[in-house]
Amino acid sequence: MNQTPLGGIDGGHTGPLTWTGEGEPEKRRRTILVHSCCGPCSTSVVERLARDRIVTIFFYNPNITDENEYKKRLEAQRSFVEIYNSSMDSPSRVGLIVGPYDPGVYYRICAGYEDDPEGGKRCERCISLRLVRTAEFASLHGFDSFTTTLSVSPHKDHSVISAVGGRLMMQYGVDFLAEDFKKNDGYARSIELSCAYGLYRQTYCGCDFARR
Ligand code: SF4
Repeated sequence: MNQTPLGGIDGGHTGPLTWTGEGEPEKRRRTILVHSCCGPCSTSVVERLARDRIVTIFFYNPNITDENEYKKRLEAQRSFVEIYNSSMDSPSRVGLIVGPYDPGVYYRICAGYEDDPEGGKRCERCISLRLVRTAEFASLHGFDSFTTTLSVSPHKDHSVISAVGGRLMMQYGVDFLAEDFKKNDGYARSIELSCAYGLYRQTYCGCDFARR
């Protein structure tokens, strides 16, 4: 076994690092917790991320204030995961965690911002609510990173998502993948895949205020 003393190079490490000398060190696939707003948006994100990561979907959306609508979207999410996993080998399958559903939490954090236009402060608070829970879960359960499907939508401002995720990364100590998933045909691909999977696609963002 070769020993390679690298004391000091990494800014303070003083002990020896060891290398077995046999080929490349085994690369562990990184884990990522993907907050998902809905089944359709998760399709192209999962397709992209599952190539080199272990993906777990986190469905947490108390902003879907109509309970029947919430159930339809959750059903579409479950359906996608089930169909996707049925055609994958076990290492490439995705997990699904469903967070608590309590629209009261959403109404509380949006109080005073009900009349803001879509894309304004209400949406920023709504995005924060969902990402805080995601970062918290990722940190508690030892995920390497977290991200969200929210940027798939052309109606969502990626710079807002990225700023919120960046703050939470510092707060919770878990990497945030700030990828704009609508880019590189991500949005078009999500439509294509959700049609192929036969998934229900909603016609509005989620809250009552977006339907007015
Ligand atoms: S429009 Fe969408 S992002 Fe904005 S507050 Fe409503 S559910 Fe949240």
